[in-house]
Amino acid sequence: MRRLKLPRRLTPRPRLFNMSPFDTIAAVSTPPGKGGVAVIRITGSEALKVIDRIFISAGGRRLSECKPRMQVYGYILDGDERVDDVLCTRFDAPRSYTGEDTVEIYCHGGILVTKTVLELALVAGARPAEAGEFTRRAFIGGRLSLTEAEAISDLLEATGREQLRLGATDARCALSKRISSLRSTLTALISSSLARIDYPDEDLGDFTDGEMLEGIFALLSSVDSLLATYRTGRAISEGIKAALVGKPNAGKSSIYNLLVGEDAAIVTDIPGTTRDLLESRVELGRVTLRLFDTAGIREENSADAVERIGIAKSREKIEKCELLFAIFDSSRPLDEDDRIILDRIKSSGATAVALLNKRDLEAELDPSLLSGYGFAEVLSVSATERERTLGLISEAVSRLFTDGTIRVGVDPVISSARQYASLLKARESLSYAQESLSAGFPQDAVSTDLERALGAISELDGRAVSEEVVTDIFSKFCVGK
Ligand code: GDP
Repeated sequence: MRRLKLPRRLTPRPRLFNMSPFDTIAAVSTPPGKGGVAVIRITGSEALKVIDRIFISAGGRRLSECKPRMQVYGYILDGDERVDDVLCTRFDAPRSYTGEDTVEIYCHGGILVTKTVLELALVAGARPAEAGEFTRRAFIGGRLSLTEAEAISDLLEATGREQLRLGATDARCALSKRISSLRSTLTALISSSLARIDYPDEDLGDFTDGEMLEGIFALLSSVDSLLATYRTGRAISEGIKAALVGKPNAGKSSIYNLLVGEDAAIVTDIPGTTRDLLESRVELGRVTLRLFDTAGIREENSADAVERIGIAKSREKIEKCELLFAIFDSSRPLDEDDRIILDRIKSSGATAVALLNKRDLEAELDPSLLSGYGFAEVLSVSATERERTLGLISEAVSRLFTDGTIRVGVDPVISSARQYASLLKARESLSYAQESLSAGFPQDAVSTDLERALGAISELDGRAVSEEVVTDIFSKFCVGK
């Protein structure tokens, strides 16, 4: 059977990047500071020339004379002087992280040693790498897709186990597989419909509207299931902005400390002690909370200027939060101060969880008075019962912000707003395609929408994406990655 060439309009657009491609760069890839070992990476077409100018093996050979992917013991030289004894490995293009010739030097992890080795590499012809430039080169060289680069960013930023899973190899593969399956199904659909028009003389058999519709439905359902993972991916990766609110002495600082796991806020018996805004990343069940501890908001007209600033800041933060923990002192009846908080919660639009604190004391607060304020959960807790309280809050937050059926690290999950926006675009075009076909439009007209969907998928994995987006993504990486 003769294979058809894909119509020209389907071939990927050329990438337009105006960075100076493939000069040779170098950076320390390990964090600054004293350590056992530091890694200096050099990549680019001159990488071997650079290392040959500053390295000699113990056996007297240059690295270019040694085998690739082998560790070679030797010395970094400054003229005739041995600066450090190191291990060196060459990774020849294209079998390297960046896809270009790459050299890694494993030197002693002293601050000055590392700096000196890097400087020697720079004097020998490399230029200092920019933040994320190694991974950016890997992306431009086709070694990894943009979603994979974003997953690596998740891995580097991970503060909790779930975030680690989100960036791990298996998760990266699962998402890449799903995206390439979307791409190939779309490409097949478009070529099946267009081929009959572009090659009218070929005997290509029928491709019915019913078959095309079936294909579009399958794509829609695959895109929808991926879109549905964003809520969970975002809660893990970016985190949910949350704040504790409540009248003074309700127990905000105590609960904050319990969640953060350290004495981060000062706890006292004097109302209104918490003046500064503290933010902490808290891993709670599957969710990452970006938790603000806010000053009590009772003293609207407080004479204390510092207190007033605290109050104003806390109000601002509350307005931007997606999750509010409203803390009530259950050992006291609901009062005017509580009602001010309740009204604020009602008008905030955030997901609100009521924590009826101090359940270890005799109950005076009637929980039925809280109904009608739209609390997603009402939990009876005590800051004195650490494990129980953490467990309850953690379960509630995971329930509210993640889908328990998603196996992070196994299933494909999207976690960035950029990925979500591209997928939404793809979904919109697929819906148009489905509507047009159902309304009786010809297949080639419908294909235009499918091509748009393919364009959106190309944005998703970075095959067709603007340089601004790429720069933005890689600017989040550190130097040396
Ligand atoms: P904030 O002003 O809302 O930040 O309240 P704090 O966290 O400073 O707590 C005020 C007082 O209540 C402190 O003396 C805490 O030790 C006490 N407290 C907080 N939570 C509990 C609790 O669950 N049970 C009891 N018995 N006391 C608590």
